[in-house]
Amino acid sequence: MFSKIKTLILDTLFPIYCLGCRQEGFWVCEECFSQIETLPFQVCPRCEKLIIEGGKLCLRCKQLSLKNKDFPLEAIMVSSQYAAGGISKMIHLFKYNFIEDLKIPLGRIMVKSFINHRIPLPDILIPVPLHPRKLRQRGFNQSELLADFLGENLAPGINFPVLKNVLIRKRSTLSQMKIKNYRERRKNIQGAFTVFQPEEIRRKNILLVDDVATTGATLLECARVLKSAGARKISALVVARQEFKRF
Ligand SMILES: [Zn+2]
Ligand SMILES: [Zn+2]
Repeated sequence: MFSKIKTLILDTLFPIYCLGCRQEGFWVCEECFSQIETLPFQVCPRCEKLIIEGGKLCLRCKQLSLKNKDFPLEAIMVSSQYAAGGISKMIHLFKYNFIEDLKIPLGRIMVKSFINHRIPLPDILIPVPLHPRKLRQRGFNQSELLADFLGENLAPGINFPVLKNVLIRKRSTLSQMKIKNYRERRKNIQGAFTVFQPEEIRRKNILLVDDVATTGATLLECARVLKSAGARKISALVVARQEFKRF
């Protein structure tokens, strides 16, 4: 009852308009949604050069990563282009203006991309965690909302478990957005995560979920920690990837 009244008041005070065409009543209307394109191809997440099915490692990177053990991620799948179809605006409103309902169009874009690339289904989903302090400030973890949506919608008839208390962010880090250098980003995020109850992930195929990846340093660090706690294979699915020049 209370939530109905709250929705009514909010709708009257702050009517919702489609971010694309300003039609009232939707954040993203069906027509504008259908115009959002998923990325037609993925690149190898390690060298970021070769186009490769499902965002997996190219052959050379796979060999190098086996040898150096420097890339414990099987794939990074990027659903859409950051700059395309109002994606960056949606992500911004979702994250910083706390518009939780945007998890639906964003989640749908992720599902569409996942299906297009015929990715093998994971055993479990894990959202990239926020530090508890940041979670308190923001009130929700945007990656968790997306993972919940994916858990229910990734494949018809299957509810994928979403583990929220297994991968933990134990150390608060400087925002990766503030660091412009790839090496510094890797350093900044090192040791930020830990695995609680490793038996939950042992020998499991995991899909990591996040809204935006830039260098992939955060995803890579999560994967490293999960792998050393006994996970079998780790892939990642993000809405978009922000342009970043390595130097
Ligand atoms: Zn529209
Ligand atoms: Zn490669």
